[in-house]
Amino acid sequence: MRLLLVEDDDAIAIPLVQGLEREGYEVERVATAAGALCAEPADLVLLDLGLPDRDGRSLFGELRVASTVPIIVVTARGDEPDRVTGLNLGADDYVVKPFGFQELVARINAVMRRAGLRTPEVAAVQHIKSLEIDRRARVVRSCGVALACTPKEYAILDLLARDPGALVTRHQLLEEVWGPHWYGTTKMIDVHIASLRRKVGDRTLIETLRGVGFRLVVDE
Ligand code: CA
Repeated sequence: MRLLLVEDDDAIAIPLVQGLEREGYEVERVATAAGALCAEPADLVLLDLGLPDRDGRSLFGELRVASTVPIIVVTARGDEPDRVTGLNLGADDYVVKPFGFQELVARINAVMRRAGLRTPEVAAVQHIKSLEIDRRARVVRSCGVALACTPKEYAILDLLARDPGALVTRHQLLEEVWGPHWYGTTKMIDVHIASLRRKVGDRTLIETLRGVGFRLVVDE
């Protein structure tokens, strides 16, 4: 998984690159817009809007035209126009400096999952009861037979399976499967869960914690 970090401030970029590499990411860091435009293709871009050689917004536009790579915009704290711009630009997410490293990693992983990319911390193939979650192929198999899951159903199961037995709140599901800028009713979560249960054919696998969220029941 390759990340491109576009950040001119060494004090932010150097520890960030080290931390992300420890998390299993391969990172290329550039300090200018010009550097970003001639960097190797990446799976995700972290883009600081305040760059020395060019306005970050116009760079964002150019990167967007050039590819569909997910982009997380990084803006300075309290810089309201930038923050608004991050959303209006159509960024996949944005973080405001100073941000916590774990928060950033969680956002990177969430954006990658929504983009259908595998994050480094999870198994490529995971077995839960009779299910096999194949993250390379984005396929769920039951007793070896591929299930016809929709992308949302796959994303829900994928998220629940990352920590079997752990509660995933409705809010987390919305954030990670539908995205941080999704506004509306959470009813469709139940619709997707119901459909997923039918396809999996094991109604006890996904437990509903009423009003709170869901978890995978993996105990025998
Ligand atoms: Ca900057």
